[in-house]
Amino acid sequence: MKTVTESFGSMVFDDRVMKSVLSAEVYRSLKKTIDEGAPLDASVANAVAQAMKDWAVSKGATHYTHWFQPLTGITAEKHDSFISPSPDGSVIMEFSGKELLKGEPDASSFPSGGLRATFEARGYTAWDPTSYAFIKGKTLCIPTAFCSYGGHALDKKTPLLRSMEALNKQALRVLKLFGNDTVKRVVSSVGPEQEYFLITKEMYDARPDLRFCGRTLFGAKAPKGQEMDDHYFGAIKPRVAAYMEELNDELWKLGILAKTEHNEVAPAQHELAPIYTTTNVATDHNQLTMEIMQKVASKHGLVCLLHEKPFAGVNGSGKHNNWSISTDEGQNLLSPGETPYENAQFLLFLCAVIKAVDDYQDLLRISVATAGNDHRLGANEAPPAVISIFLGDELNAVLEAIENDAPYEGTKKTQMKLGVDVLPKFNRDTTDRNRTSPFAFTGNKFEFRMLGSSNSIACANIMLNAAVAESLKIYADRLEGAEDFETKLHEMIKKTIKDHKRIIFNGNGYDDAWIKEATEVRGLLNYRTTADCMPHLLDKKNADMLTAQKVFTIAELQSRCDIMLENYCKSVTIEANTMIDMAKTQIAPAVERFTADIAKNAAAKKALDASVACAYETGLVKKLSALTDTIVAKVDELQGAVAALGDAKDIIAESAMIRDSVLPKMSELRTACDEAETITAKSYWPFPTYADILFSVR
Ligand code: ADP
Ligand code: MG
Repeated sequence: MKTVTESFGSMVFDDRVMKSVLSAEVYRSLKKTIDEGAPLDASVANAVAQAMKDWAVSKGATHYTHWFQPLTGITAEKHDSFISPSPDGSVIMEFSGKELLKGEPDASSFPSGGLRATFEARGYTAWDPTSYAFIKGKTLCIPTAFCSYGGHALDKKTPLLRSMEALNKQALRVLKLFGNDTVKRVVSSVGPEQEYFLITKEMYDARPDLRFCGRTLFGAKAPKGQEMDDHYFGAIKPRVAAYMEELNDELWKLGILAKTEHNEVAPAQHELAPIYTTTNVATDHNQLTMEIMQKVASKHGLVCLLHEKPFAGVNGSGKHNNWSISTDEGQNLLSPGETPYENAQFLLFLCAVIKAVDDYQDLLRISVATAGNDHRLGANEAPPAVISIFLGDELNAVLEAIENDAPYEGTKKTQMKLGVDVLPKFNRDTTDRNRTSPFAFTGNKFEFRMLGSSNSIACANIMLNAAVAESLKIYADRLEGAEDFETKLHEMIKKTIKDHKRIIFNGNGYDDAWIKEATEVRGLLNYRTTADCMPHLLDKKNADMLTAQKVFTIAELQSRCDIMLENYCKSVTIEANTMIDMAKTQIAPAVERFTADIAKNAAAKKALDASVACAYETGLVKKLSALTDTIVAKVDELQGAVAALGDAKDIIAESAMIRDSVLPKMSELRTACDEAETITAKSYWPFPTYADILFSVR
């Protein structure tokens, strides 16, 4: 048995391996490419490819693939073996720099939203040397970006890398103004906490809704749910512990910093959190984590559900995106400093985030919008669809003092007036952990809590990085031209607080009164569904910012809006069709069988003794017959709503029909079926119930 330190990263072509297998010269130029984005020349690429292949073959790899993240939200790979024929009939294992740098998957089936006409199907993948290559199974996986021949991004990695670059550029400008000339790079880092459900394979196989949609479309509440709060942080069952152990081993081999594991609030729900790392790598790692979670589950006779809302009535699963920005010198720019001077810089970065979140509430909402996550946002366990920022009492008091030119009543009583030298020293806020805020400051990072469990974290971080880069750009423009830096700085911080304080909310985000205040008094946005928010991706304000920051082109934005709406429509349509099928071929016949047997019993009883009332049977048969009629009628209505989608004039209209007619009809059908479930004998019910599924792993 290898120890953790021995096996950690054993399947990764990381810095340790590079140092040991590359010549000093090749290593140096590769490092320059990784750290500073310098172009890589062909001879270096060849040397790296050769070394990578030798290393991979020594680990048992036979194939390589460019591993990329198309807009389907999952990762894609096409394997090629290393073999190359020799004249004597044997083969050698080969891999060239050209193959490492660029690939040409036949990409016609990946969504492009019209960016790549199918007749010119080819896109290409380009090596992203900032994320290490790794071995999965017998395949060397090379993280790549995926673009069309016209240069348009067809993936999630390309805009993510662009957004990191935008943030780097603007943050460096600001740091320079604070006299920081030695910093070379600013990067954003993320630690995504991943929630998931584990159920047994038998339960999963028996439910078409789980198999086709990843969530249950029917199911009456189990007698026991999460009300006892006995699952959260509870003792981990041996079968789950065995799963987690193998999962950790697999993740560690891939250099993924799996750190924390625990049971979550709902029965059968768990969480895994890694140690944070660079956003780009964290994104790759999170995609891999989700894939391996599912793979390892199947080895244990389990299924890992990553859907945002697999079960009604208990918590859904999210992903908390812990985000910070730091310099290559190790300074966290969201960490309150030791000196007033450092604190002024901290306050400016804090203000940049506050302004960004307020100005681009819609983009943040859009970045987490999927049919699955719509069930979660606004339900009472997740943050609401309204975005606000939690800062905590101390920081809030500091901002209020600045806004009002009032003395700050913190650790030191200091007049909050002009400039840097009088901004106070204040400590990290350790007091409050507001769990209801969609966007909470947690001492030295922000926790964006609206992401769905199955979302790629790329989208949220693209928007976050881009919006903060935009705030920083505005600040840098103003400060660079300022006559008196300190006066201007103070003025700007004050103005940001005044202009954007409406986005700061330290209370309970689940409270209905808050939603009312947020929307009616503060004018914050409340886009409840994907259909509501997605078209705003193209609003002038948003398109201007994203193109100015060079994160997206207009054509890319249009294509993404179309693809996301298409995904929304397709997923809900699949759900509707699955419901129709289950209701018609499983639920209605089961209820009918039960009704017939009850009626038969009543007839048999009456035949024995005509005077028995058979009140139980009569009442039940009446109720069941009425419910069957309702079910059949609701199926018809839902079928009609789905058929009408064919008349939609475009994808925006179709998504509105999904929201306004298909989803409500689905909900009506479900209500009738769930009611039938509660009065039909269990032995007749055609698939496992919530009670069976949620407590299936023992
Ligand atoms: P919590 O109290 O919310 O559980 P933790 O400190 O345990 O907070 O962190 C939760 C996640 O946040 C982990 O993935 C952790 O690595 C990550 N994290 C911690 N510090 C930072 C940071 N400076 N930037 C980004 N993520 C961070
Ligand atoms: Mg958490």
